[in-house]
Amino acid sequence: MADSTRALARRGSGSGGSVTPGSAAPWEYAPAPESAASGRIKPRYQMFVDGRFVDGRGGDVPTINPATEGELAQVSWASVDDVDDAVRAARRAYNTVWSKMSGLARGKYLFRIARGIAERSRELAVVETLDNGKPIKESRDADIPTAAAHFFYHAGWADKLQHAGFGPHPKALGVAGQVIPWNFPLLMAAWKIAPALAAGNTVVIKPAESTPLSILVLAEIMQDAGLPEGVVNIVTGAGDIGAYLVNHPGIDKVAFTGSTAVGKLIQQSLAGTGKKVTLELGGKAANIVFDDAPIDQAVEGIVNGIFFNQGHVCCAGSRLLVQESVEDEVISKLRDRISTLRLGDPMDKNTDIGAINSAEQLSKITELSAAGDAEGAHRWTSPCPVPDKGFFFPPTVFTDVSQSMRIAREEIFGPVLSVLTFRTPDEAVAKANNTPYGLSAGVWTEKGSRILGMAGALRAGVVWANTFNRFDPTAAFGGYKESGFGREGGRSGLAAYLDTDSDTADEGAA
Ligand code: NAP
Ligand code: MG
Repeated sequence: MADSTRALARRGSGSGGSVTPGSAAPWEYAPAPESAASGRIKPRYQMFVDGRFVDGRGGDVPTINPATEGELAQVSWASVDDVDDAVRAARRAYNTVWSKMSGLARGKYLFRIARGIAERSRELAVVETLDNGKPIKESRDADIPTAAAHFFYHAGWADKLQHAGFGPHPKALGVAGQVIPWNFPLLMAAWKIAPALAAGNTVVIKPAESTPLSILVLAEIMQDAGLPEGVVNIVTGAGDIGAYLVNHPGIDKVAFTGSTAVGKLIQQSLAGTGKKVTLELGGKAANIVFDDAPIDQAVEGIVNGIFFNQGHVCCAGSRLLVQESVEDEVISKLRDRISTLRLGDPMDKNTDIGAINSAEQLSKITELSAAGDAEGAHRWTSPCPVPDKGFFFPPTVFTDVSQSMRIAREEIFGPVLSVLTFRTPDEAVAKANNTPYGLSAGVWTEKGSRILGMAGALRAGVVWANTFNRFDPTAAFGGYKESGFGREGGRSGLAAYLDTDSDTADEGAA
């Protein structure tokens, strides 16, 4: 009791206790930690190849909890020989089982995996939060349910591909090599694996080195679902293993989500190989607030847009474009709202902002923010207390930002918002599109016609109107320009895993 009272007192004097002007009393919360035991973290994890958990030949490497900097578990890493084994297993499974199976039967496995995720959702949420640093309320309410939804959705497609407008006999591509990042480890695995399997492909996938655990729990779920051996293979390791996998001559399709720098390398190395490629890369989204917007609602959307998942979101609304006439009001309300965000232990159910995923990412955020200071932007930082241990960065807002500054051009991938202003819709469009990226955008206005006009003019794969960061497996997600190409989700996402180029594939296309 004494401890929690002290914690309350601390909270009261910090972020959780700050008072919104005009409100009667500060909100205070007692600590509400989720139990780490629910994660059932094992001391050591193996890779998953040909239906079995096996030791990799790349040695054991620890994965850490970024909120404590302590070791969570040892993970056995793959060598290139293990990738060869995994690709061979995937090819064998494709030739002997998966390509011969009916869509109806494939769909049953996907439904079972979806149910398995739902059944072990609490465990998965805890594993994700411990390995990644994201708040438990986000892994519990967003990452894990959306991952299950992707398997449910694609299970429904598996026996309906012939009605999807890809011809009467849509053909799979074969073996897909997939590489995913650390910001949504299980969700990105679901985005990759579910459509690949629904379309009839087999998979070799590499998670990010700092977040390998949740996909290895997913492997247990796939094993329990009776998924035939070799249909999904998971090779753990760092960038060299990813590079070896995407360049492997034994795969037919590459799906990559990660940084634009690595995406460019992959595109260069695959040019001329005939492999079908989708690249989901970085972003620098504009979240555009017009003077007729419902300001309080927009403030919530701005906060969600940049502080969800510590800003480690490719489609984060990292550039706020606010109409000049409402700038003061929006910034003042934004600071008040941000001051109430609770930063700290990601396992606490009341935490809004968790840990930055790695020391490297923290130094990148710190360095880019310092560039904002040096280039003359005005920095405001939330008064929230920051834990001494672990990788944390307080919510930060830069005003007086000009388009040429690095904080307006480069992806910070952290809880840092850059604010620019505009006077007319044309200026908003010009500034929003003035970026090498084109993944997402947000528009806040009460005028429907303006929403439609802006959506047409913005060069962004997704445009949210009066909301932000909405994800649904039925909706296609992907970018323009240096945000990559290809779509994930919906019917378009299936096309990335089907042979839509061959002559037979077009017969009878709708
Ligand atoms: P990253 O460094 O590009 O890493 C992504 C994945 O690629 C990791 O598994 C990484 O391995 C692996 N990798 C590294 N070098 C490689 C190479 N030469 N060949 C093949 N694979 C290689 O990106 P990140 O820092 O993990 O993730 C953040 C980036 O992802 C951000 O730019 C973000 O915008 C983007 N992202 C995009 C989307 C989208 O849908 N558009 C979604 C989420 C994230 P290791 O990490 O193990 O070294
Ligand atoms: Mg980790």
